[in-house]
This record gives sequence, structure tokens and C-alpha cells, in this order.
Amino acid sequence: MDFNLSPEEEAFRKELCDWLDKNVKELRELQSRQRFGGPEMESDAAQQFTRMWHKKLYDAGYVGIAWPKEYGGRGATVMEQMIFNQEMIKRRVPGGVGGLGIGWAGPTIIVAGNEEQKKRFLPKILNGEEQWCQAFSEPEAGSDLANSQTRAVEDGDDYVVNGQKVWTTGGMRADWAILLAKTDFNPETPRHRTFSYFLLDMHAPGVTIRPLREITGYAMFGETFLDDVRIPKNLLVGEKNRGWYISMATLEFERSNSSSSMQYLTTITNLIELARKMERNGQPVSKEQMTRQKIAQFYIEANVGKYIGLRALTRQLRGMTPGPESSVGSLLTMELGQRIEDFATYLQGPYSQLVTGSKYAIDNGRWQRSFLSSRGRTIMTGTSEVKRNVIAERTLGLPRSY
Ligand SMILES: Cc1cc2nc3c(=O)[nH]c(=O)nc-3n(C[C@H](O)[C@H](O)[C@H](O)COP(=O)(O)OP(=O)(O)OC[C@H]3O[C@@H](n4cnc5c(N)ncnc54)[C@H](O)[C@@H]3O)c2cc1C
Repeated sequence: MDFNLSPEEEAFRKELCDWLDKNVKELRELQSRQRFGGPEMESDAAQQFTRMWHKKLYDAGYVGIAWPKEYGGRGATVMEQMIFNQEMIKRRVPGGVGGLGIGWAGPTIIVAGNEEQKKRFLPKILNGEEQWCQAFSEPEAGSDLANSQTRAVEDGDDYVVNGQKVWTTGGMRADWAILLAKTDFNPETPRHRTFSYFLLDMHAPGVTIRPLREITGYAMFGETFLDDVRIPKNLLVGEKNRGWYISMATLEFERSNSSSSMQYLTTITNLIELARKMERNGQPVSKEQMTRQKIAQFYIEANVGKYIGLRALTRQLRGMTPGPESSVGSLLTMELGQRIEDFATYLQGPYSQLVTGSKYAIDNGRWQRSFLSSRGRTIMTGTSEVKRNVIAERTLGLPRSY
């Protein structure tokens, strides 16, 4: 891989930075008037704000940077998409609506959907008109996804779906879901050949979603009940009973999207600011030997994550899915993120108990919120143990453990 940017990529970065410098100022002014620091992030006002920002990004051509032009994307390279992600993270600028649609539902439709599905769904993911969620996990099937029990039975021009999904992030606001459901009920068929991959209308009769409140106080995900939901056959992605393999591509996109080491490098910069600001025995904690050792180690590991991420990026630049490398990068950065958040609370000492709204909360309780949400990072997109299994089997060629 060549780490230098090409002249075209440099020009893209410059154009983007100019645009961001101009528009982020306005965004900050709006943000300072409307503070969405806590569970109010779920409010309609917060959603409206995110939609407004999404529209700005979309109109400027910064949504779906690497997506094909014919479906509304910019038609640029994955490298340019990465440059965009980096600049957004550096400036701590929020993304628009539909992270899941843009991050992994859309890319899966691009690689596995038919022409009709691409034309119908991709433009509306990009312009933010339709939001997506992922309905894979079930009460008895998380890590062991192949144990999913939701059934889709053929009936005329439709499949009739019954079952329950859980931890459906963004489900309460979603218009569509990517859904994995069983379509072969022969007990002799190998489990991985019994699933199909569907696009589910979340507003269809028979779909009910109930919010689940997290440790952070937000209710970002819910449990989804499917009672005799009819899915037209033209919303089956790929072939019947081959959905498992498509879901694996979705998970690769998901893992590569959610493991940005750039994000952790920015968090480390914030951690350094925090260490300079907090004092112990009349001295900034940044002077303490242990603090310096820890932060330097975090920095080393975040850089390792960055280069692993570039390997997955190289595969994508060659037209492949991110591959099992995405599990290595995701595992490393998610666990690193948790350790950084733990250490940030240690640096704050007794102040770490104070949350948003308290006059004495450090950085308005931002560290407390990210500490609590970091607990889920080694569970979402597959637990750490499951990612280690993927690495053992698919990268190292070790035998399956079950
Ligand atoms: C923040 C967050 C967002 C999420 N969003 C979504 C979403 O949008 N859509 C969706 O479908 N799901 C979502 N999930 C669900 C997530 O995919 C599952 O929680 C995850 O796959 C683990 O499944 P589980 O919770 O059933 O735990 P289990 O599978 O029951 O695991 C319990 C424990 O056993 C361990 N374990 C299980 N199997 C093995 C094994 N073979 N080897 C070693 N150890 C093992 C696990 O590592 C874990 O520690 C989300 C989860 C979180 C935390």
C-alpha cells in the first residue's frame, strides 16, 4: 500500500477542508444554542438538527463518497471516503442521519442486491429520506447467530415472517431493516444454508418495536416483534437460503466501519488535555510517570489499529469486502477504547462520579457518557470472544471451536 495521497486525493482533502472550515462554524453556532448532551439526543429536535446537517453534507456531495454515481453516490474511491472520515473525526463533527444505512445496509445492497433493489433503496439512504436498522440478533441467538429462529415461509408472492429480534439499534426511527430469517426447515440441512436475507419495511403491519433503555440512559435500541409480517418476494436479497453468506459481508462492513482508530487517536488528544487539566497533590497528573506511560501505550496501540485498518482499506480499494482483517482492527480498537475510557475516569478521581448537569462535572460529563457507552463496544458487532474465534478460524486456519 502506498501511504502517500495521490494529487487527486490531496485536491479532494483541500476542497473538503475548505468546505468544513466554512460550514462547521455555522454548525457549532447551532450546537451551542441547542445542547444535546444527554438522553435528549433521542428527541425530535435532535433528530431535526441531524437531518439539517445531513442535508448540508448531501447537497455538497459528501454522503456516499465511494458509492457508484448511478445510485446517487459521488463515485470517488474508498480512500477519499477515508479522508472524509478522518477530517470529520479530527474536527469532532457529527455524521448525518443513517449511519447504519450508509455504513453497512447500503454497501451490502451494492454487493448483493439486484438492480431494482439498488435503484429503489440506495438514493433514499443517501439523501437521508429513509433510515435503516439491522434485525439479526435474537434473544437466543447473538454470538450464535446461526441459532436464529425467526421464520419466513413462502405464501404466494410474499414471505410471511414470524419471530422476535432484539438490540435493534435505531429501530424506533427506522423505515427499513436488513433481516436474517430462516427459510429452510429441514433439520438435515447444515444451519448456515437455512437462512435468507430480506429487506423489511419497518412500517409494515405486524412489526412492533419496543425501546430498551441502556446504562447510558438513552434508549437507542429496541426489541422487534414480527407477527405474520408479509415481505414481497422482490425484497429477498440474493438467492433463497444463501442469506448467511450475505450477512457475513454485512458484518465485515459493520466491523470495518465501527473500528476507526482515527477516532481513538482523537480521544487520546482529548485525554492528554484532560491529564494536563486534572491535578493531584498540586501537580498536573500529566507529570505522573504512570499517566505518561499509559498514554504513550494507548498512542502506540491506536497507531497499530490505524495500520490494520489500512489493510482492510487496501482490500476494498481492490474491489473486495473488508475481509477478516476487519475483526482484528475492530477487536483491537474496541478494547483499546474501553481502556482509554477507564483511564479517563481514573484521572478524574472523585470527579468521575459527576455526570452531565452537575456544575463540577469535567467537560460537561462527556467522559462519563463515553465510559458508559464503551461497555457495549466489546459486545456490538460481535463480542471480543467471537471476533477472536473469527481470527483463529479465518485468518489463522485453526479448526472451529464448536
Ligand atoms: C450497543 C449494541 C448495539 C447492538 N446493535 C445491534 C443491532 O443493531 N442489530 C442486531 O441484530 N444486534 C445488535 N446488537 C446485538 C449484538 O450483536 C449481540 O449482543 C452480540 O452478538 C452478542 O450476543 P448476545 O448478546 O446474545 O450474547 P451471547 O451470544 O449470549 O454471549 C454471551 C457471552 O458468551 C460468550 N460466547 C458466546 N459464544 C462464544 C463462543 N463460541 N466462544 C467463546 N465465547 C462465546 C460471548 O463472548 C459473551 O461473553 C447490539 C449490541 C450492543 C451491545
